[in-house]
Amino acid sequence: MKTINDFDFNNKKALIRVDFNVPLNENFQVTDATRIVSAKPTIIKILEGGGSCVLMSHLGRPKGVQDEFSLRHIVSKVEAILGVEVNFVDQCVGEKAEAAVSNLKPGEVLLLENLRFHKEETAGDVEFAKQLSNLGDIYVNDAFGTAHRAHASTTIVAQFFPNLKCFGSLLAQEIESIEKVMKTGEKPVLAILGGAKVSSKITIIENILDKVDHLIIGGGMSFTFVKAQGGSIGNSICEDDKMDLALTILKQAEAKNVKVHIPVDVVAADAFNNDANTQIVDIDKIPQGWEGIDAGPKSLEIFHDVVNASKTILWNGPLGVFEMENFAKGTIALGNSIAEATKNGAFSLVGGGDSVAAVKQFGFEDKVSYVSTGGGAMLESLEGKTLPGIAAILE
Ligand code: AMP
Repeated sequence: MKTINDFDFNNKKALIRVDFNVPLNENFQVTDATRIVSAKPTIIKILEGGGSCVLMSHLGRPKGVQDEFSLRHIVSKVEAILGVEVNFVDQCVGEKAEAAVSNLKPGEVLLLENLRFHKEETAGDVEFAKQLSNLGDIYVNDAFGTAHRAHASTTIVAQFFPNLKCFGSLLAQEIESIEKVMKTGEKPVLAILGGAKVSSKITIIENILDKVDHLIIGGGMSFTFVKAQGGSIGNSICEDDKMDLALTILKQAEAKNVKVHIPVDVVAADAFNNDANTQIVDIDKIPQGWEGIDAGPKSLEIFHDVVNASKTILWNGPLGVFEMENFAKGTIALGNSIAEATKNGAFSLVGGGDSVAAVKQFGFEDKVSYVSTGGGAMLESLEGKTLPGIAAILE
């Protein structure tokens, strides 16, 4: 696996695919700069090595050229985070972009305009990728968030740099973290899958059964399993058409010697809002008119012990409706358990959508080993898929 550490960037122009697809408010200010901060180590390392950086990214989903999606809006934020001046060119291919690149000196940074102003980007157009390839000597992919897309800048462009392509530090770290869970993790390995639906996690569960010793199934997903086993789940969310699948998964897990842990009790609410009346009940005896909305205290104790007996932990998906303050306790308690296990030497990876949001919201970011920057890319990795952006560098 080639990374930026394997190349001498002195006097070279690095064409770096970053993921600067950051959220902006109505005044075009960046409201969460995590992705820019995450790309900083790669950029600084190349600059310090005597190279220059040509940064390319998409922002949002523009239809053609739309000023509201211009990367011009984020230039000052990128400058503030990198601590260096950032030049901007309002094209990402063609003469103007090429001229800006040829003027670039070692130690300088150039940001290209939004790649998705050209429909050829998402179409993975080879000619467009070739034009992009004119803008650097070495291609660096550091955009994990788009590594699952076979777009021109994430995948196709790599073919024009047969021996001069590599992963940036962020992407390398993401790959290593996933491998630590899926391949090289110290046993016992635990996966915690929560969130709303079995259907969105099914491929992950099936893939992961071969890698883990313990599986915690929490959140809304658990009710499909409980109902399939004959429990009463009241008004809790459930995918009736996935009940057979749930039973199959439990059988497969048993055959593979994977211990599955499903909550034994829940906080049930009489309405889906923060001020609803609540009671703690066994998960298979939820009264009619009530719905399970967070993990109960007995479940959290069991999960705490499982987490703390594990050496490698993957967490994807909340244990309850954590967006409502009164139903965030289970997710927070699980975060605390994982933080404790991590402190005691376990490797913990948090990835994929809502669990990342929860980890940030409740301040666990620095208490787990790694928080993934890619939602869809992380989920596809956990499903066992080889991401095109990663394969293109390895080829
Ligand atoms: P996912 O995107 O599949 O990881 O699902 C995350 C969502 O699942 C969050 O918005 C949670 O509010 C929701 N969720 C978790 N537990 C429950 C539950 N018991 N009932 C309804 N929604 C839930």
